[in-house]
Amino acid sequence: MSSRRKEGSRGATDTGGAAASQVEVREVLKDHGLRYSRPRETILGYLLERDRHVSAESLYVDLKGRGEELSLSTVYLNLSTLAEAGLVREYKTPSGQSFYDSNVTPHYHVVCQETGQVMDVPAPQVNGVPLGQYLKEYVEGLTGWEVDEPSFSLTGVAPKRAGAADPMQEADETRKNDA
Ligand SMILES: [Zn+2]
Repeated sequence: MSSRRKEGSRGATDTGGAAASQVEVREVLKDHGLRYSRPRETILGYLLERDRHVSAESLYVDLKGRGEELSLSTVYLNLSTLAEAGLVREYKTPSGQSFYDSNVTPHYHVVCQETGQVMDVPAPQVNGVPLGQYLKEYVEGLTGWEVDEPSFSLTGVAPKRAGAADPMQEADETRKNDA
């Protein structure tokens, strides 16, 4: 019954945010053609715990706090390897800061202007494909250019109350019900 997600990176969602098991992490590495190494396992395991938007520095500080022996340059190196393998996505905030996103499903970001909180919002589908891919293909068809997929970042103000909706969760459920 365990539906293997093709991206392999939302692994912890079903277990309610529990840490991804070491076996699972190793398998994800293997699935993406990456050799096992302890730093890779540590960093990927951390990213798989839940959807995260972290800078290399904050990831480094968090792992240090857990007693992991890693240098900041090791963190940088492995994040870029994981990004190349499609296990994590790098994006830049409007202020130009680089973040790593462990949610690699098609989605957009809403960033709270007051708190900096980042929320994932699933990409709407147009003609059966995610909006970004649709736009890319549409513009390529119009111009004959090779066009990059657009990345959207929307700003706004998060609701003050706790327990606000999680759009990614709701989209997951919709997908499950459709299946
Ligand atoms: Zn995200």
